[in-house]
Amino acid sequence: MSVGIRPLVKETDVVLMGAGIMSATLGMILRELNPNITIQVFERSDQAGTESSDAWNNAGTGHSAFCELNYTPQKADGSVDISKAIKIAESFEISREFWAHLVRKEYLSNPAEFISPIPHMSFVWGKDNVEFLRKRYKAMQSSPLFKDMVWSEDRDQIAQWAPIVMRDRDKNQPVAATRMDIGTDVNFGALTRGMFNQLNKMPGVTIHYNMEALDLDPDGKGGWDVFVKSLLTGEKKKVNTRFVFIGAGRATLHLLKRAEIKERKGYGGFPVSGLWLKCLNKELIQQHHAKVYGKATAGSPPMSVPHIDTRIIDGKKELLFGPFAGFSTKFLKNGSLMDLPKSIGLDNAIPMIFAGMRNMPLTKYLIEQVRQTPEQRLAALEEYVPFTKLEDWELKEAGQRVQVIKKDKKEGGVLEFGTEVVVSEDGTVAALLGASPGASTAAAVMLGILPKCFKKESQSELWKNKLKEMVPSFGLLLAQNEKLLQATRERTSKILGLNKS
Ligand SMILES: Cc1cc2nc3c(=O)[nH]c(=O)nc-3n(C[C@H](O)[C@H](O)[C@H](O)COP(=O)(O)OP(=O)(O)OC[C@H]3O[C@@H](n4cnc5c(N)ncnc54)[C@H](O)[C@@H]3O)c2cc1C
Repeated sequence: MSVGIRPLVKETDVVLMGAGIMSATLGMILRELNPNITIQVFERSDQAGTESSDAWNNAGTGHSAFCELNYTPQKADGSVDISKAIKIAESFEISREFWAHLVRKEYLSNPAEFISPIPHMSFVWGKDNVEFLRKRYKAMQSSPLFKDMVWSEDRDQIAQWAPIVMRDRDKNQPVAATRMDIGTDVNFGALTRGMFNQLNKMPGVTIHYNMEALDLDPDGKGGWDVFVKSLLTGEKKKVNTRFVFIGAGRATLHLLKRAEIKERKGYGGFPVSGLWLKCLNKELIQQHHAKVYGKATAGSPPMSVPHIDTRIIDGKKELLFGPFAGFSTKFLKNGSLMDLPKSIGLDNAIPMIFAGMRNMPLTKYLIEQVRQTPEQRLAALEEYVPFTKLEDWELKEAGQRVQVIKKDKKEGGVLEFGTEVVVSEDGTVAALLGASPGASTAAAVMLGILPKCFKKESQSELWKNKLKEMVPSFGLLLAQNEKLLQATRERTSKILGLNKS
């Protein structure tokens, strides 16, 4: 939803920079906890959720670690580590609980607009990969979170689950798959806009579109002066606030550098753009009904895991394959080519050089990806859909990721592939960096900053009770409480309309 220029309120409790899924989630949580809190949102675009959170700019996978093989790395001794998968699966349950709360309160009217049940599958071929998947499946059986996972090496069974993946496949190729029926596809763009529509109706919340956040300076009283500029009139203004959340997606790094807090130092990033192949063949789209994740080729980064995905976008079934990586010096899809050069300074040049030197496979992978021809992309797709033709697909730009580089005492600089929250010592500034598992874990990540940024309130019985109301499993580990997990899944599936397959 786009709105005209809103009057700026000079003093506010909270400033949210950027109107993506992260700011939307934090805004809703804070308003639920304290209906009197005043919030101002500054978004450079003319509506919410148009960058990373928009449906075509991400894969829309409700990341619950059911199918993503990069969340379950193989250890040196050959065993499979599922600890990260457990954390991500628990975080996604928190998201489901939070979204169910918003639906129950009628803040989000129709859950089908943002979440759909789509089975999640992992699919591999080749003896070693089949063995890896078997070990992963066995390891995951030890957690109630993944108990419903089904394993198969039976070609007919896999063909029933994912016909287009098995048609015309080499009969001598060993294959295996796992399937979780309770997987989801999420339209994070629609969800973000749904939350902002609701926030916009709440007294004390003002959303300013076409307004760019430029800078933030300490006000000398423990708060912040935030400087913003109207992209319509060029007018610059100042707002005073007690707390700032920098949720500007890939532009967060730039704004974090402007905040005079010691925690900003040593972070760098380089942009990786994404590309999808979007299916144009209606028959093919109808024949597939799953998110099928494969194994990334050796040496390539987690962001490169290929998948052939059913999407439900604006009520329409779609099919995409990817992602392919590209390189651009822009941090935002609508950003500037100077974003990368401008982000390099004295404090992060060394970590960035070290991270580059220590990640030659990533550099090699990116160069190869950028140079790919349409035929090479087709060859990658044929590994998943063996009989397909190039004319059935069009290349579509996905979102930009900014791969975070962090200063490291031992290594000089390391690449961070997760979602990273930077919080100032006094808790008055928080910034979100990184991508995967990203939007799926927004609720858990935003709940996680409350004790650091709203220390006193978080300890109050009032907030504790309200948190329990929003996310009944809050503070409990679902992986260790099978009964509660089942009850939670049943409840959220019902409210979110996920029981139909
Ligand atoms: C290719 C790809 C695939 C992905 N797949 C998945 C997936 O399957 N599942 C999943 O959960 N996650 C996925 N992600 C990650 C997910 O998209 C992000 O984690 C999430 O959308 C980030 O949300 P955000 O609110 O931080 O950023 P954004 O949605 O980018 O929002 C930031 C907002 O800030 C605004 N902004 C920027 N600068 C300024 C400024 N100076 N002033 C004011 N406003 C500003 C932007 O216009 C934008 O609206 C994927 C990401 C990519 C790139």
